[in-house]
Amino acid sequence: MTIEMTGRLLKHEKLAKYTSWRVGGPADRLYIPQDRHDLIEFIKTLPDSESVFWMGLGSNLLVRDGGIRGTVINTKGRLKEMSLTEEGSVYVEAGVPCAHVARFCGERGLLGAEFLAGIPGTIGGALKMNAGAFGGETWAIVQSVEMLNKSGNVTHRKPQEFTVSYRSVKGFENEWFLACVLTLQQGDTVESQQKIKGLLEKRGATQPTNQPSCGSVFKNPEGDYAARLIEQCGLKGYSIGGACVSEKHANFIVNTGNATAADIETLIYYVQDKVKQQQGVILQTEVCMVGEEI
Ligand SMILES: Cc1cc2nc3c(=O)[nH]c(=O)nc-3n(C[C@H](O)[C@H](O)[C@H](O)COP(=O)(O)OP(=O)(O)OC[C@H]3O[C@@H](n4cnc5c(N)ncnc54)[C@H](O)[C@@H]3O)c2cc1C
Repeated sequence: MTIEMTGRLLKHEKLAKYTSWRVGGPADRLYIPQDRHDLIEFIKTLPDSESVFWMGLGSNLLVRDGGIRGTVINTKGRLKEMSLTEEGSVYVEAGVPCAHVARFCGERGLLGAEFLAGIPGTIGGALKMNAGAFGGETWAIVQSVEMLNKSGNVTHRKPQEFTVSYRSVKGFENEWFLACVLTLQQGDTVESQQKIKGLLEKRGATQPTNQPSCGSVFKNPEGDYAARLIEQCGLKGYSIGGACVSEKHANFIVNTGNATAADIETLIYYVQDKVKQQQGVILQTEVCMVGEEI
């Protein structure tokens, strides 16, 4: 029996248009699945030797200018089922944008997902990163996850099976998130919507949301803020090529128009170096740096 793939397979596709920084070289192969079933069938066809990388909305990714060897799976606009379960939990497929999850829950008077409203990634990416904001964190509301491995097998897992910490989730590195079930608290729709509005206003006031970025480049060190340390070094507005430390939020590096991934990466190391020299703190990157240099 031959299985027909219904997704799109693109060769040598430049990833710049799939990342929020608008930089990144080509993927050897980029697969955009039709749906969950199609993705599982596609994964099964890949040879064992093929390296596979998953991306959602590319909002926490620095793809280097030489691109990614092997196959990239992109869930943007795909795997977008979301529903209320009989128990009152929320089932979400990996490609659903975080903002949609926040809105879906809020409209049903389910509290606890508001923090997702301003995170411009997919729930799959949020699971991988333990994305969080304003005191909320993805894994604090996860009841279970569905994982897919390279053989096309789907496994249900519980949060206790992972090592979860600030912007880090370890465990099952050869599996990817297909979907999750979120547990929320019953509450009031108006309360949820007001909270979302407040959080979005706060973001607009403090972050350069109108320029290409990947959000916070560095993790906040224990008890401090990366932005504060970078600002103390006088680095706001410092630029290398088309990459610039945001004037609005020092932990954001923005693409002013013609940045390459190399400009951004060089600026990341420059900032790290200055903060280490002047503040004695080694900043860890939050952003995932992947692919090859030219
Ligand atoms: C303006 C702006 C503001 C931001 N604010 C915040 C914030 O407040 N809090 C915060 O935590 N982050 C923030 N971010 C960063 C980013 O939005 C989050 O990390 C988000 O969760 C990434 O999701 P994504 O779909 O874009 O993932 P991608 O950037 O595409 O991928 C990120 C990582 O997740 C992996 N991945 C993606 N999908 C899957 C999957 N289905 N299964 C397994 N692995 C997967 C990728 O391989 C990669 O390692 C911000 C980014 C921007 C641009």
